Amino acid sequence: MELISVIVPCYNEQESLPLFYREITAVTDGMKEKYYNENISDLAFEFIFINDGSKDDTLKILRELSDTDKRVRYVSFSRNFGKEAAMLAGLEKSRGDYCVILDADLQHPPKLIPQMYDYVRSGEYDCAATRRISRKGESKALSFFARSFYKIINSISQTHIVDGAQDFRFMTRQMVNAILDMPEKNRFSKGIFSWVGFDTKYIEVENTERAAGKTTWNFKKLFLYSLEGIFAFSTAPLWISLIMGIVFCLLAVAMVVKTLICGEPMEGYPVIVALVCLIGGIQLFCMGVTGQYISKMYTEIKGRPSYIIKETEETKRPVRKNNPKGLK
Ligand code: UDP
Ligand code: MG
Repeated sequence: MELISVIVPCYNEQESLPLFYREITAVTDGMKEKYYNENISDLAFEFIFINDGSKDDTLKILRELSDTDKRVRYVSFSRNFGKEAAMLAGLEKSRGDYCVILDADLQHPPKLIPQMYDYVRSGEYDCAATRRISRKGESKALSFFARSFYKIINSISQTHIVDGAQDFRFMTRQMVNAILDMPEKNRFSKGIFSWVGFDTKYIEVENTERAAGKTTWNFKKLFLYSLEGIFAFSTAPLWISLIMGIVFCLLAVAMVVKTLICGEPMEGYPVIVALVCLIGGIQLFCMGVTGQYISKMYTEIKGRPSYIIKETEETKRPVRKNNPKGLK
């Protein structure tokens, strides 16, 4: 028997969850039957939902699902810790021979799972993932920003991050264990998936719209997330600040030499102001860059957990409907 863990991060997904559950179970039931009838494999599934501090009825739906379907397990966080923490919690809780991570909003079509399983089962690949080939439905500015991000990070980082690669991934236990062996707290999964290596098959897909609810990502969040990726997987910004420092030192020396040799002092108040502003700005920029790495070290050293679990399907607390003592 082969167990496949389906991991689903959820944040305010009360509208999508019932649709998602219907679709994923249809796909997995079909897969189980097909592979069993064709004598290929005997499959079992577990569904691990991570409630990432949702403010709507997501947790209530998960409780109900786990009551009616024993394959449904869930982890509910004490607050919103972000999708990265949710994916980590799902992988840590999983027991499967294979793990597949996908979004709850059906933007990652569950019908691709059988194809992903085929690629990985063939032994040729350790992982199958989707890669977005079109950026339909996305603003021009965002597309431009995303493309530039991939160009920059791939030119300065040794870890290659595939343009458009999504978090929708089907992985072997061996690869999952390698990911779990990375103890870092500043997690940038796109980089982590690539850094651990292994052979990945990219399935090219068109962009799919959300089934229901709305995205929590905006330009500011994406910008900060991309900086997170650059600082987590490259030290090139430190080199850039070092080189800028050297160039400006050389420039200063050249100016002094020019004044001494040619006897022509540089004159004028605006020149001095411009130079002070330029050098001051560059110093602040370099300090900012160094500060980013120090702040990452600071969060790593503090060693705080990536997430805090409030409830799971095993520790479910009964919710009392009436309030016997009339407590407020
Ligand atoms: N998500 C999460 N925590 C968050 C934000 C999002 O677990 O803080 C989940 C969300 O429920 C969904 C997936 O991550 O299943 C992708 O989020 P979303 O659809 O908002 O992002 P997008 O598809 O627009 O990149
Ligand atoms: Mg989405």
